[in-house]
Amino acid sequence: MAGKYTFTMIKPDAVEKNNIGGILEMMNAAGFRVVSMKLTQLSAAKAGEFYAVHSERPFYGELVEFMSSGPIVAAILEKENAVEDFRKLIGATNPANAEEGTIRKKYAESMGKNAVHGSDSDENAMIEGNFFFSGLERF
Ligand code: GDP
Repeated sequence: MAGKYTFTMIKPDAVEKNNIGGILEMMNAAGFRVVSMKLTQLSAAKAGEFYAVHSERPFYGELVEFMSSGPIVAAILEKENAVEDFRKLIGATNPANAEEGTIRKKYAESMGKNAVHGSDSDENAMIEGNFFFSGLERF
Protein backbone atom coordinates (compact mmCIF):
# COMPACT_ATOMS: atom_id res chain seq x y z
CA MET A 1 0.00 0.00 0.00
CA ALA A 2 1.24 3.47 -0.88
CA GLY A 3 2.47 5.48 2.11
CA LYS A 4 1.49 8.91 3.33
CA TYR A 5 4.95 10.45 3.54
CA THR A 6 7.65 11.69 1.22
CA PHE A 7 10.90 13.58 1.66
CA THR A 8 11.97 16.66 -0.29
CA MET A 9 14.82 19.13 -0.54
CA ILE A 10 14.68 22.58 -2.07
CA LYS A 11 18.13 22.52 -3.68
CA PRO A 12 20.87 25.20 -3.47
CA ASP A 13 19.97 26.75 -6.88
CA ALA A 14 16.38 27.46 -5.80
CA VAL A 15 17.37 28.71 -2.33
CA GLU A 16 19.97 31.01 -3.93
CA LYS A 17 17.34 32.45 -6.28
CA ASN A 18 14.96 33.14 -3.39
CA ASN A 19 12.39 30.62 -4.63
CA ILE A 20 11.68 28.87 -1.30
CA GLY A 21 8.33 30.62 -0.86
CA GLY A 22 7.09 29.95 -4.40
CA ILE A 23 8.03 26.29 -4.20
CA LEU A 24 6.42 25.77 -0.78
CA GLU A 25 3.27 27.43 -2.11
CA MET A 26 3.09 24.89 -4.95
CA MET A 27 3.58 22.03 -2.47
CA ASN A 28 0.82 23.34 -0.19
CA ALA A 29 -1.52 24.03 -3.11
CA ALA A 30 -1.09 20.41 -4.22
CA GLY A 31 -2.24 19.22 -0.78
CA PHE A 32 1.06 18.40 0.94
CA ARG A 33 1.31 19.14 4.68
CA VAL A 34 4.66 19.93 6.31
CA VAL A 35 5.61 17.34 8.96
CA SER A 36 9.26 18.47 9.42
CA MET A 37 11.30 21.29 7.90
CA LYS A 38 14.75 22.88 8.23
CA LEU A 39 17.16 25.20 6.42
CA THR A 40 20.60 23.60 6.55
CA GLN A 41 23.75 23.01 4.48
CA LEU A 42 25.18 19.59 3.64
CA SER A 43 28.92 19.01 3.90
CA ALA A 44 30.42 17.29 0.84
CA ALA A 45 30.71 14.11 2.93
CA LYS A 46 27.02 14.22 3.93
CA ALA A 47 25.90 14.98 0.36
CA GLY A 48 28.00 12.05 -0.83
CA GLU A 49 26.33 9.80 1.72
CA PHE A 50 22.84 10.99 0.78
CA TYR A 51 23.47 10.30 -2.92
CA ALA A 52 25.60 7.16 -2.40
CA VAL A 53 23.27 5.21 -4.72
CA HIS A 54 24.61 7.37 -7.59
CA SER A 55 28.31 6.96 -6.68
CA GLU A 56 29.12 5.08 -9.89
CA ARG A 57 27.39 7.62 -12.14
CA PRO A 58 29.52 10.09 -14.14
CA PHE A 59 27.72 13.09 -12.61
CA TYR A 60 28.25 12.02 -8.98
CA GLY A 61 31.14 14.45 -8.28
CA GLU A 62 29.23 17.35 -9.80
CA LEU A 63 26.09 16.38 -7.88
CA VAL A 64 27.91 16.23 -4.53
CA GLU A 65 29.66 19.54 -5.18
CA PHE A 66 26.40 21.23 -6.15
CA MET A 67 24.34 19.83 -3.28
CA SER A 68 26.94 21.00 -0.73
CA SER A 69 27.45 24.41 -2.38
CA GLY A 70 24.85 26.30 -0.35
CA PRO A 71 21.90 25.95 1.99
CA ILE A 72 18.98 23.66 1.24
CA VAL A 73 15.50 23.27 2.74
CA ALA A 74 14.86 19.68 3.87
CA ALA A 75 11.32 18.59 4.63
CA ILE A 76 9.07 15.60 5.28
CA LEU A 77 5.66 16.03 3.64
CA GLU A 78 2.36 14.22 4.22
CA LYS A 79 -0.42 13.40 1.77
CA GLU A 80 -2.21 10.25 0.64
CA ASN A 81 -0.09 8.54 -2.05
CA ALA A 82 2.68 11.03 -1.20
CA VAL A 83 5.66 9.62 -3.13
CA GLU A 84 3.90 9.18 -6.46
CA ASP A 85 1.89 12.41 -6.27
CA PHE A 86 4.97 14.41 -5.31
CA ARG A 87 7.03 12.97 -8.20
CA LYS A 88 4.23 14.16 -10.51
CA LEU A 89 4.28 17.61 -8.92
CA ILE A 90 8.05 18.06 -9.30
CA GLY A 91 8.20 16.80 -12.91
CA ALA A 92 10.97 15.22 -14.97
CA THR A 93 14.61 15.31 -13.82
CA ASN A 94 15.53 17.34 -16.91
CA PRO A 95 13.46 20.55 -16.84
CA ALA A 96 13.40 20.52 -20.65
CA ASN A 97 11.15 17.45 -20.34
CA ALA A 98 9.10 18.67 -17.35
CA GLU A 99 5.39 19.23 -17.92
CA GLU A 100 3.61 22.58 -17.52
CA GLY A 101 2.45 23.10 -13.96
CA THR A 102 5.36 21.19 -12.38
CA ILE A 103 7.84 22.71 -9.95
CA ARG A 104 10.82 21.88 -12.15
CA LYS A 105 9.15 23.41 -15.24
CA LYS A 106 8.79 26.66 -13.34
CA TYR A 107 11.97 26.75 -11.23
CA ALA A 108 14.65 24.33 -12.51
CA GLU A 109 17.47 25.58 -14.72
CA SER A 110 19.19 22.34 -15.81
CA MET A 111 19.43 18.59 -15.30
CA GLY A 112 21.74 19.11 -12.31
CA LYS A 113 20.35 22.37 -10.93
CA ASN A 114 16.76 21.19 -10.92
CA ALA A 115 15.38 23.04 -7.88
CA VAL A 116 13.90 20.14 -5.89
CA HIS A 117 14.42 16.56 -4.76
CA GLY A 118 11.60 14.07 -4.24
CA SER A 119 11.92 10.52 -2.88
CA ASP A 120 11.39 7.75 -5.45
CA SER A 121 9.89 5.11 -3.11
CA ASP A 122 8.25 4.77 0.32
CA GLU A 123 11.38 3.02 1.57
CA ASN A 124 13.66 5.84 0.42
CA ALA A 125 11.27 8.45 1.81
CA MET A 126 11.74 6.86 5.24
CA ILE A 127 15.52 6.54 4.89
CA GLU A 128 15.88 10.12 3.64
CA GLY A 129 13.57 11.59 6.31
CA ASN A 130 15.58 9.77 8.99
CA PHE A 131 18.80 11.18 7.48
CA PHE A 132 17.71 14.73 8.43
CA PHE A 133 15.11 14.54 11.22
CA SER A 134 14.76 13.01 14.67
CA GLY A 135 11.45 11.86 16.14
CA LEU A 136 11.25 15.14 18.12
CA GLU A 137 11.27 17.15 14.87
CA ARG A 138 8.09 15.60 13.40
CA PHE A 139 4.68 17.20 13.82
P1 GDP B 1 15.49 12.58 -9.73
O1 GDP B 1 14.99 11.39 -8.96
O2 GDP B 1 14.50 13.12 -10.72
O3 GDP B 1 16.02 13.67 -8.82
O4 GDP B 1 16.73 12.08 -10.61
P2 GDP B 1 17.88 10.99 -10.36
O5 GDP B 1 17.60 10.18 -9.15
O6 GDP B 1 18.10 10.29 -11.66
O7 GDP B 1 19.18 11.89 -10.10
C1 GDP B 1 19.37 12.51 -8.87
C2 GDP B 1 19.86 13.92 -9.09
O8 GDP B 1 21.15 13.87 -9.72
C3 GDP B 1 19.02 14.76 -10.05
O9 GDP B 1 17.92 15.37 -9.45
C4 GDP B 1 20.02 15.79 -10.53
O10 GDP B 1 20.19 16.85 -9.59
C5 GDP B 1 21.31 14.98 -10.58
N1 GDP B 1 21.56 14.50 -11.95
C6 GDP B 1 20.94 13.49 -12.62
N2 GDP B 1 21.44 13.35 -13.86
C7 GDP B 1 22.41 14.30 -13.97
C8 GDP B 1 23.30 14.67 -15.02
O11 GDP B 1 23.31 14.10 -16.11
N3 GDP B 1 24.16 15.70 -14.76
C9 GDP B 1 24.18 16.35 -13.56
N4 GDP B 1 25.06 17.35 -13.36
N5 GDP B 1 23.37 16.03 -12.55
C10 GDP B 1 22.48 15.03 -12.75
